Amino acid sequence: MELGIIRSVGPTLKRNRMIILLSILFWQQSLSAQTRQTDASWKAGVSRTILTPEYPMWLAGYAARTGPSEGKIHDLWAKALALEDAQGVRAVLITLDLLGLPKPLSDQIRNQLKDDLSLERSQIILNSSHTHSGPVLDEALTDIYPVDDHDIGQIKRYSSEFTEKIVHLVKDAFNNLEPVSIFAGNGVSRIQVNRRNNVEAKLITLNELSGPNDFAVPVLKVARSNGSILAIAFGYACHPTVLDTTLWSGDYPGFTQIELESSHPGAMALFFQGAGADQNPMPRRTIPLARQYGRTLAAAVDRVLEEEMIQLTPTLSTIYQEVDLGINAPPDKEELEAYIEQITPGYQKRWAERMLRRVENGDRFAKSYPFPLQVWKLGNQPIFTLGGELVVGYAIQLKKSLATTSL
Ligand SMILES: [Zn+2]
Repeated sequence: MELGIIRSVGPTLKRNRMIILLSILFWQQSLSAQTRQTDASWKAGVSRTILTPEYPMWLAGYAARTGPSEGKIHDLWAKALALEDAQGVRAVLITLDLLGLPKPLSDQIRNQLKDDLSLERSQIILNSSHTHSGPVLDEALTDIYPVDDHDIGQIKRYSSEFTEKIVHLVKDAFNNLEPVSIFAGNGVSRIQVNRRNNVEAKLITLNELSGPNDFAVPVLKVARSNGSILAIAFGYACHPTVLDTTLWSGDYPGFTQIELESSHPGAMALFFQGAGADQNPMPRRTIPLARQYGRTLAAAVDRVLEEEMIQLTPTLSTIYQEVDLGINAPPDKEELEAYIEQITPGYQKRWAERMLRRVENGDRFAKSYPFPLQVWKLGNQPIFTLGGELVVGYAIQLKKSLATTSL
């Protein structure tokens, strides 16, 4: 979400992008050197818990909603896939049907997992599907929603229960470890449309669409020793913004997970969001459309599962680092006052008024942000995780730099 008053960040952004890509390339090489050979097998365990709030709450992602939730289309889920390689090296992939995790909340979860299970940050991937039909969390896009004190109380209550829920989820997944084989493959789905370079309102008249895009559907299959599927972890880079109602749902990836779990009984399907900040499913706004995109993506995953996949040797390496990315100086008192004067009431005004109060209080503003970068390597399959909401160019550049199509 961009606020109108923020200054251009051109040079800082370019330098930051370089830092991120160089860091990742360096890690990729050092992880390759650590690959070990062994005959023992992988172990994996899965666990799931419902995230659907039990009381009315505001839905996250749109400023235009005028009230809290009124029911659900389907449940929201947190799912965990715990992994252990032949040497006992562990990691966990946690996928969430949520808009995103604010840093204080993800720090809390990761600190608790370190205390309880000795898991380092490198060993934990927290991925939000970015559904725009999940609950608002504490300290996330604070000014967007016109919430009152009661609403804020519900948001804080939900957020505090959330950490405990996720820690339990991860413990359960590790308690369920069993011998497995893991396979990787890459599919394709073209449901994403570049939302910067194609006008949604004119979509129906367009004969061709402008990129850039990344149509890849990376898939990990985790198979039990009897050959049945324990887990299907799959990704796609595209906003879950088909729906903007006041009903809970995982949007199109929610439908994909339901579809895959019903066509593969006994398997848990986990969706991870890719670098799709500039990609939308279009057209949008009806439940049948969300279901259509969900099924389309499920069909892309199924094709990968049906074809031959690459079996991954049971070696796991994980690396995590935070890189300080520069933030431009905030607007000063005069700029904020002038902005508040000319802007109409809404979230931008709420943001500017809150900033002005902070400036008048003499608050200090962060000069940089500790941007998280993470690389896993399962056998020869790298998995990159970067913080925030990335545009598709990051994925394209990484694949080019590493001369691979499979990430
Ligand atoms: Zn977004």
